[in-house]
Amino acid sequence: MAIQSVGIVGAGQMGNGIAHVFALAGYDVLMTDISREALDKAVALVDRNLSRQASRGKISDQDRDAALGRIRTTLQLSDLGQCDLIIEAATERETVKQAIFEDLLPHLKPETILASNTSSISITRLASRTDRPERFIGVHFMNPVPVMQLVELIRGIATDEATYKQLLEVVERIGKTAASAEDFPAFIVNRVLIPMINEAVYVLYEGVGSVRSIDESMKLGANHPMGPLELADFIGLDTCLAIMNVLHDGLADTKYRPCPLLVKYVEAGWLGRKTGRGFYDYSGETPVPTR
Ligand code: NAD
Repeated sequence: MAIQSVGIVGAGQMGNGIAHVFALAGYDVLMTDISREALDKAVALVDRNLSRQASRGKISDQDRDAALGRIRTTLQLSDLGQCDLIIEAATERETVKQAIFEDLLPHLKPETILASNTSSISITRLASRTDRPERFIGVHFMNPVPVMQLVELIRGIATDEATYKQLLEVVERIGKTAASAEDFPAFIVNRVLIPMINEAVYVLYEGVGSVRSIDESMKLGANHPMGPLELADFIGLDTCLAIMNVLHDGLADTKYRPCPLLVKYVEAGWLGRKTGRGFYDYSGETPVPTR
């Protein structure tokens, strides 16, 4: 089966970017969310981001218009049943994701492939609750989706080779590069990246360096484009903590212990850019370190 139509569940930060890259690559996209507002915002954002690409000469005006014309939205999850591939990109909560797949099942074509964009939940476990664990796969996009080159493909224990190969083709068609990861907590990128961020928070917590000296050190000393604390604010400190907890619980190794200072910031509601304060204060013109 050639994949032509793609359903996307969840029109948040990731859903809109996923819709963008699929529509631009010529797929028919049907996006759903529980919130009409989220759907409208997502389409407006795709419009804005495509227009920016067009104004920079990366795509033509016709490409932009054609891509926008390929995106439809619906509040009815069941409308996605006829799609060839469905990518779930809803809130990172296992009960939410399970309920979505459960509600989808009666409406699916037999050959439809199910995918989840989860950052940390077991693909094998999500797949086992469906009628097609062999056609279930993890497709982990990076944020912001139109910019980031990598897509991690995560095979659950039951995912078959044909499904994996089809997704390899899809990733190639959307102009991205796939990396294969086995289904272990946080896969590859977050398994390496988030403990590094957690360690940077320990370095701050223990007074080894200030926010600025830690970020400068990693930018100039390790050639990272962003410092780890700046990056933590961009990802969201709640998300960083949630991934550390998944690693700690899933691998049962004390080296994944979340830093108490990270926990404290999350308790305070200082979640990074999205709340205006994290390791930096974003209320002024330029971000100001908080420590
Ligand atoms: P988000 O909070 O921005 O968006 C989630 C959307 O899902 C919301 O619009 C919400 O209304 C919708 N939703 C919730 N329940 C739903 C339901 N039952 N049916 C349909 N829609 C529903 O979250 P996000 O950052 O876009 O993350 C989405 C997924 O992508 C998560 O699994 C997350 O782990 C993963 N992810 C996030 C990032 C990132 O950097 N934000 C990166 C890679 C993967």
